[in-house]
Amino acid sequence: MIYIVYVLVTLAVFVLMELVAWATHRWVMHGFLWVLHRDHHEPHDGKLEKNDWFALFFSIPSIGCCYLGNRSSNPWLICVGLGILLYGIAYFLAHDVIVHQRVKWFCRSRNRYIRQLRWAHKMHHKHLERKKGESFGFLFVEKKYRDKIKNDEELQQKS
Ligand SMILES: [Zn+2]
Ligand SMILES: [Zn+2]
Repeated sequence: MIYIVYVLVTLAVFVLMELVAWATHRWVMHGFLWVLHRDHHEPHDGKLEKNDWFALFFSIPSIGCCYLGNRSSNPWLICVGLGILLYGIAYFLAHDVIVHQRVKWFCRSRNRYIRQLRWAHKMHHKHLERKKGESFGFLFVEKKYRDKIKNDEELQQKS
């Protein structure tokens, strides 16, 4: 029974991480650490970006929680660490693979959620400067972007 609670706590941390990522993107990456995020909004040739430092930063609390949880035999800390890790993996798949195609997987997918993700993040990248911006989330797609994809599908079906 307790294992179900562990899974639920891990999933809750995963969901919470989308809020943390949204707030970090909105207020930190587009705030005082814009210097590290900027190159992600600009055209560039290099494979690596300064922006990749954020993935490294986010891995620290995950590794830290798993390590400390393991050392002190605290399963709750391990759940938190795993929740952050799972979010990191999902973030990488959604943002770096599906949207930016740094790895060429799912390139031809017509899946509705994948198209929503791409559109929502495209709207984020439409803004090149620090202050103006929209669509700061990564996995959760706001209604207006979901509606746009739905309307496109309906138009396509009619034609
Ligand atoms: Zn941004
Ligand atoms: Zn991006």
